[in-house]
Amino acid sequence: MANTIQPFDPRGSLQTNFPIILERNGPISQTIPILLYHSVSDQFDQRYGRWCVTPRRFEEQMSALAEGGFHAISISDLAQKLAVGLPVPDRCVAVTFDDGLKDFQSGALPVLTKFGFAATLYVVAGSVGKTSGWLAALGEDRRPMLQPEDMLELLDAGIEIGAHSMTHPELDILDRKAACEEIRTSRIVLEDALSAPVQSFAYPFGYASTTTRALVRKAGFRSAVVVRHALSSPDEDLFGLSRLIVTEQLSGSDLLELIHGKGAKPPAIQHKIKTDIWRLVRRVRRLHRDGFSAGSRSESKDLGRMV
Ligand SMILES: [Zn+2]
Repeated sequence: MANTIQPFDPRGSLQTNFPIILERNGPISQTIPILLYHSVSDQFDQRYGRWCVTPRRFEEQMSALAEGGFHAISISDLAQKLAVGLPVPDRCVAVTFDDGLKDFQSGALPVLTKFGFAATLYVVAGSVGKTSGWLAALGEDRRPMLQPEDMLELLDAGIEIGAHSMTHPELDILDRKAACEEIRTSRIVLEDALSAPVQSFAYPFGYASTTTRALVRKAGFRSAVVVRHALSSPDEDLFGLSRLIVTEQLSGSDLLELIHGKGAKPPAIQHKIKTDIWRLVRRVRRLHRDGFSAGSRSESKDLGRMV
């Protein structure tokens, strides 16, 4: 069994190394599971439970993938194949982690290394070395974040580092200038810290409008990931790659069933309609918050959907 993480070349050139091709001709029947985790830890507030997987369960899930013949590649390696129309090998999975929490090192990395799995870690650039302030509504605003030196170690271990904004806002309801700044600056800050390219972006809370996606593309990223209860596929927009949330409740065999398509579907048009309506609701709420009661902000429902 491999014991090093091979596919991603984190010290690659800062120059973009593959083209964005808008018209692609990949096989459309294939599905690609892109898994989403946040914290891998035994310690968490009950309200944060949906976003936390214990190290023991995480190992069970990764072990099931390995025994099922899956191998993991980074999002940028996957995006590169998709961009140039290269086939994605069968039983290929991408494992991603949002936020850049410190527990990635102790909870996830040893397991990933054990199975030789690549992974992509999306970091809130403005919170490196601090705590997870945006999780206050879930009682988790003091979770330690990675330090700059931690990120360098992860890069050397073959983990891809992606960006997840500066302050974890709902980008799709920010004004264009503020959203642009969040996206653009996060890339610059992380590239400065890593001296390495940062090529992929994860939308905070999973929220991304057409405008948001365009801003991410314009900022120089080569791919971006969203959150849907859906498998990705080779014909998806490289700036809207679907991810599945993996929870503590999923056993290893449950996870295999999920990525074989039981319970998860390819992205559907109904999802877009629901997303548009939900964005309108959040936008109106934001107007109310900003206009009438800046101190009475309630984020619990938003955070219940995604963090
Ligand atoms: Zn997040």
